[in-house]
Amino acid sequence: MLAYIIIFTVFIIMVTLIIYLFKRIIFLKEELLALNEIAISSEKNNLLSNLLNLSFENERLPIQARKICDVLIYYYNIDYCTIFTYNNRNTLDIVATNITNKYLKDVKSYGNHVIKTIESRKSGKIIYSDYPLDYPSASDRNIKYFQLLPLISRNKLIGALMIENKNVSILDGNEVEFFKIVVENITILLQNFIFNDDLMKSAMVDGLTGVNNRNSMDIELREVLELHRSSYSNFTIVIFDIDYFKRFNDTYGHAFGDIVLKSVAQFINRNIGPDDTVYRYGGEEFLICFTKASSDDIYYRIDEIREMLSQLKLTNDSGVTTSVTASFGIAEYPIHGHNIDTLIKNADRALYYSKERGRNRVTIYDDNL
Ligand code: GH3
Ligand code: MG
Ligand code: MG
Repeated sequence: MLAYIIIFTVFIIMVTLIIYLFKRIIFLKEELLALNEIAISSEKNNLLSNLLNLSFENERLPIQARKICDVLIYYYNIDYCTIFTYNNRNTLDIVATNITNKYLKDVKSYGNHVIKTIESRKSGKIIYSDYPLDYPSASDRNIKYFQLLPLISRNKLIGALMIENKNVSILDGNEVEFFKIVVENITILLQNFIFNDDLMKSAMVDGLTGVNNRNSMDIELREVLELHRSSYSNFTIVIFDIDYFKRFNDTYGHAFGDIVLKSVAQFINRNIGPDDTVYRYGGEEFLICFTKASSDDIYYRIDEIREMLSQLKLTNDSGVTTSVTASFGIAEYPIHGHNIDTLIKNADRALYYSKERGRNRVTIYDDNL
């Protein structure tokens, strides 16, 4: 009898223990799931807050857009991420990417081709394949997954997000919904960045002549100096001043003086290269920065421009045609100065030498001037 009681008690204890363990396992499993959920949602929060934080930074559009790419690349383990903006010629321009330069032309033209095929541009286009996709730069980079998402703000296409991966899939089923929220946030960010960039650009342009203003000159020359200082390379600045400009105002009126200023600035702008920039330094004085040439090369280019400028015909309201000349001074980094102030001072010295010598001429700075 005692044996039965013992066996029964042991049985009851074991059953209770098993039930307890079973409950404990279920509880632990739920805890684990909850923890996992918390981990996933905190990762999602991190991703969204990292994107949101970008809006507090005051950088130029390409830098901001590149930071969006970097956040996506990090969180989704993406191989290539490209952000486009939609320009007023109704095409996409690459504004940020981690793809190397040699593939950019192909990626841009493929992006433009795909955006045209997306019906009503409301949803994205996803292409994936076990083999590399068939646009040239994709097979070179072994891309098997391609996604192009139009970025639409207030029913207007403002850009696109392109994702390319060497794996066939990047998002599993339940991540797709969240990714839509990410893309909505990216659209809002990009819209703000474009707006700020337009504002910044208009603050950098001289209202009368349409060339860059003194403010942008101060900022950009500092950047050019830093770049050339670290790469031990040279760059050249040219200052020029319109000859006897006061006479235009006195003879034909201030309004015609304004037209002359604008015509000269635009003429110079048309005749310098894509890497060179002209700034209105003040009044009828301008500065050109040539980032890729020495003063000797620039001398001949400037002398040619000087000659062409002197042949430019300017006609006022009453049909009177007149012409204009300018005097130029050149200084090269680092041989004519190690900082912007010295370079400007020395280019100015060379310019006044041109004036003293009769105007309409070009002078390279020299210590003996
Ligand atoms: P120089 O050959 O020695 O440079 O003679 P200049 O007459 O060009 O030089 P000066 O410094 O005596 O005169 C410059 C004039 O430029 C005086 C100023 O009224 C005029 N000016 C400066 N800014 C503007 C502008 O925005 N519009 C017009 N119409 N004139 C301007
Ligand atoms: Mg002048
Ligand atoms: Mg002057």
